[in-house]
Amino acid sequence: MENLAHLRAAPAFRFVEADVCEPLAVDERVDYVMNLASPASPKDYLEHPVETLRVGSEGTRNLLEYAKGCGAGFLLASTSECYGDPLEHPQRETYWGNVNPNGPRSCYDEAKRFAEAMTMAYRRAHGVKTSIVRIFNTFGPRMKLDDGRVVPSFMGSALRGEPITVFGDGLQTRSFCYVSDLVDGIVRLAESGYAEPVNIGNPVEMTVLEFARAIEQLTGTTAGIVFEPLPEDDPKRRQPDITRAREVLGWEPKVDLETGLRRTVEYFRTRI
Ligand code: UDP
Repeated sequence: MENLAHLRAAPAFRFVEADVCEPLAVDERVDYVMNLASPASPKDYLEHPVETLRVGSEGTRNLLEYAKGCGAGFLLASTSECYGDPLEHPQRETYWGNVNPNGPRSCYDEAKRFAEAMTMAYRRAHGVKTSIVRIFNTFGPRMKLDDGRVVPSFMGSALRGEPITVFGDGLQTRSFCYVSDLVDGIVRLAESGYAEPVNIGNPVEMTVLEFARAIEQLTGTTAGIVFEPLPEDDPKRRQPDITRAREVLGWEPKVDLETGLRRTVEYFRTRI
């Protein structure tokens, strides 16, 4: 709610609280439905596996029905988790993935894979103008401090003067995209109506340990790093191939990691 406070007074803004797992009545003209309803942090979806599967399956179907009912375009927020622990690197959209279908992360991965299938089915069966964005690790101001993901976790620890907790040996990799770049990619994709999935992420790849060192440097913390066990099925490598986003949307990230991290750490400072 706090994240919406600055929009409250805007005449073009209206907030409607509803559960997407229940059918939604169509009562107005809508240009686009953007389905971002889902937990995205492993900590959150591991705590709510059934809700996560329901929101990806029933929720996506209800929002597709809504888009069909009002003739709106539809954009699905999908995920790099569709690639699971990828055997192809970097990941192109044509890769079908390496997902454990019943492990702890399956509630999220399979919900999103089902959501992609449902989205394509509505396009084929009902002609809904759909798009699918596969979102890679994203960060920025207004993230939850206790979200559990690596950016708020490392920054929160560093700003409190506590040790940074690295899972496993820290040699697994991720590629971090700043939030405004993601938003730009999402808007371009929705407007394009392009049907096939499109990766949106920053291709600059680093190990989690290198990322921890970057946060140490940025914040000046001297509390050190502690190692904890690696969560089950934690992907070993992740890096988006963004050729399709470049070619179809004319998109690429503009905010470099250091600039993005500075803005984010300033935000978290105000929260601690
Ligand atoms: N990670 C970590 N310490 C933390 C949180 C995450 O070492 O406090 C690691 C995690 O094991 C993973 C990477 O950082 O390899 C990114 O994790 P995150 O939960 O942000 O997102 P994921 O990419 O796994 O969905």
